Amino acid sequence: MKFFQKGIIVITILMVSLSLSASDIKLNRIDPPFWWTGMKNSSLQMLVYGENISETRPTFNYEGVKLQEVILVENPNYMFINIEIGVNTTPGDFIIEFKKGKKTITEYKYELKQRNSDPKLHQGFDNSDVIYLLMPDRFSNGDPSNDNIPGMLELADRSNPNGRHGGDLKGMSDHLDYLNDLGITAIWVNPLLENDMPEYSYHGYAVTDLYKVDPRFGTNEDYANFVKEAHKKGIKVIMDMIFNHLGTGYYWNDDLPMKDWYNQWPEFTRSNYRGGTVSDPYASGYDYDKMVKGWFDKTMADLNQNNKFLANYLIQNSIWWIEYVGLDGIRQDTYPYPYKDFMAEWMKRILEEYPDFNVVGEAWLSHTPAVAYWLDNETNKDGYKSNLTNVFDFPLMYAISKAFNEEEGWSTGTAQLYEVLSQDYVYSIPDNIVTFADNHDGDRFFTKVKEDINKYKLAMAFMMTTRGIPQIYYGTEILMTGEEHKGHGDIRKDFPGGWEGDIADAKTREGRTELQNEAFDFMKRLLNWRKNNKTAQYGRLTHYIPEDGVYVYFKEYRNNTIMVLLNNTNEDKTVDMSRYAENIGDNKTGKSVLTRQGWDNLSTISISAKSPLIIELSK
Ligand code: CA
Repeated sequence: MKFFQKGIIVITILMVSLSLSASDIKLNRIDPPFWWTGMKNSSLQMLVYGENISETRPTFNYEGVKLQEVILVENPNYMFINIEIGVNTTPGDFIIEFKKGKKTITEYKYELKQRNSDPKLHQGFDNSDVIYLLMPDRFSNGDPSNDNIPGMLELADRSNPNGRHGGDLKGMSDHLDYLNDLGITAIWVNPLLENDMPEYSYHGYAVTDLYKVDPRFGTNEDYANFVKEAHKKGIKVIMDMIFNHLGTGYYWNDDLPMKDWYNQWPEFTRSNYRGGTVSDPYASGYDYDKMVKGWFDKTMADLNQNNKFLANYLIQNSIWWIEYVGLDGIRQDTYPYPYKDFMAEWMKRILEEYPDFNVVGEAWLSHTPAVAYWLDNETNKDGYKSNLTNVFDFPLMYAISKAFNEEEGWSTGTAQLYEVLSQDYVYSIPDNIVTFADNHDGDRFFTKVKEDINKYKLAMAFMMTTRGIPQIYYGTEILMTGEEHKGHGDIRKDFPGGWEGDIADAKTREGRTELQNEAFDFMKRLLNWRKNNKTAQYGRLTHYIPEDGVYVYFKEYRNNTIMVLLNNTNEDKTVDMSRYAENIGDNKTGKSVLTRQGWDNLSTISISAKSPLIIELSK
């Protein structure tokens, strides 16, 4: 009886599949939608999605391109096609025919573009750069006509701090001159890809299409043009990517290619957000699983990058964007959350294609060794080698946030900066660390220093002259404030003047208050000086234990020396310079970078209360 029932089921399935007509088979999309000739890796895996597409077989004919393998998976609506693109293949289009028997059911014109071989592209970022982090929804609304897109789930609502406010790529392109004038050299743009989610979609961290810019920001072409325009002004572009999770509105969410595409739990299980468990030699399996396989949020599906098809999909997606828009770098979100071996493979594949490229990983960990685990190095005891070129310096961010609010002491005030930097021996290349005082996830820096411009200037002078690659957050130059505990909207406010009808345009002198102009002028002077000063950028750092409330350090590059003094006390000080003889060397005079004050004798230096001095020394 049982056998009989099974037999009927098999026959029924067979009949259903035989009776599928052309109209029951559809092709929705192929990812990546196009590719290039001349890539170092000649292999490409296409993900083909469409109702019952696995009923068909693809064929095409194009010189130099070989169909290697067609792979069917458990969901009949998917097909993976592996192709090889020969070294000398000519760029062009070819038609992929999807056939059932001899009948062509559907077709797709696949384009192989000419790879852009401009040597100035994909050069990465380094110590010569200052990165400006910008949230596209909150910077400038250059095109109000795209604020609402018919059919998309969330409408613009500027009165809602957590809603979409309408900022876009046009607004960013329109203000490249402002950013260039400020003196930044690279822009890290918070995620630009489609987030068709019912709420909180403005921040971009719940991507619903990895191959499409959110239409409320503009088109893919607008993004490519923005990068081109930025490059013309000497500004690099760093793309924000998230490989730990995707929005639950992703097109495949309700129709996954394979069950193990996501890390699935019997019921919703949140990550414990304890990134340290990944490197912790004593971590329990329970904690590790929750960390890596738990979901970041209900609306953010946790990806299983151990699925090799998904892994390939993500890796190719990065290469697609690097090549398509001409990126200079990537900022990768939540770095310890995806499987670490996948992340190492991802980095390896990117560097194979673009050897000078840079990726900065967000390993949000409080202690230096925990962060260092993620930077490419040979010293991890468990043998893990990340291949990652850059990490953010979270420990130094915490120290900067406290140092200038505190009284100077054995372990307080600038001693905190000294202590964090003194641990740099755990990093393979400490210069590759990205330093910052705030970002889109925490209190704004001016709020952290209790809106005290002197503390602000001390911190900014420190960031621009110590080791590493500095990153500032949009609005820092005009003293924007915000507290994370009031909600993320408070730390991601609109840049004043970016919207029609705004009372003041803070991108202009007239639109800023006197205090804002003081901050802006300070930053502009500091950044533009740094932009042209190799010693500030690449110099070897020597620092001295903070003494009598003053932290003194030097940067040396070839025969040039910069001396920095940070007076973190409320008293004016006169510093006896004999302690610093080994770095002052035979330099006799000095000139202040910020005030243009000069010294024709370096035996003592006077420094005002709560202020920085950056002095270029000369013989
Ligand atoms: Ca807009």
